Amino acid sequence: MAVMPVRPEDPRAPHSRGAKLRPVAGTGDTVVVIEDDQNISDLVALYLRREGFRVLQARDGEQGLGYVERDRPKLVVLDVGLPGELDGFDVCRKLRAAGDVPIVMLTARDDEVDRVVGLEFGADDYVTKPFSPRELVARVRAILRRAGSPTHLEPTVLETGDVVIDTGRREVRQGESVVALTGREFDLLTYLALNTGLALSRRQLLDGVWGEGWYGDERTVDVHVRQLRKKLGDGLPLTTVWGVGYRLG
Ligand code: CA
Repeated sequence: MAVMPVRPEDPRAPHSRGAKLRPVAGTGDTVVVIEDDQNISDLVALYLRREGFRVLQARDGEQGLGYVERDRPKLVVLDVGLPGELDGFDVCRKLRAAGDVPIVMLTARDDEVDRVVGLEFGADDYVTKPFSPRELVARVRAILRRAGSPTHLEPTVLETGDVVIDTGRREVRQGESVVALTGREFDLLTYLALNTGLALSRRQLLDGVWGEGWYGDERTVDVHVRQLRKKLGDGLPLTTVWGVGYRLG
């Protein structure tokens, strides 16, 4: 892995809480790991440090939230099962309310996956325990790469059905109302709209939206499509192409 110099933050950038920092991909970025299982936490930290990340390990939700607020990490690795007042879902909700730091969740059960990446919590990605730390690191890198290189360079307004996508404002409107989408839902919808009329496989969607370094399973696409349908209803002309994937328009 090539060592990239860290680009310093713009000194003019506001530093108030919740201010959006320009994503910087590169060595030295901080990752907060919130996991009470010391062995797992140490292993994850070891692999991330080996990749050049600065890692802060928190043993519970409150400590983790404190680190996030103080150190403004580029990404958070968050276990669902945490001791104390706040479980991983609570922490995820609070992080989402405070900003858009990417979150990778560690889940112990397969049936948590829909909640984790779906509407309810909006994590960017997940791995199910037991997982390979190598895979987790690959996902972290994929998310940061994606955050550092926007896929839509030109601000564009796209229309599909009664849905209007404004990629400049990163806003989706239906009639007069703005529809709240997670970052990933927005990217998926935009990608589909940029390829209107084409049947796209789940793999193509993963490569296009999650990035080619993404090792996740194709079910993730289905979860996000389900959320888009739920939020946008019949006004979204999104068709399931059996045996292939999805087509918009
Ligand atoms: Ca745990």
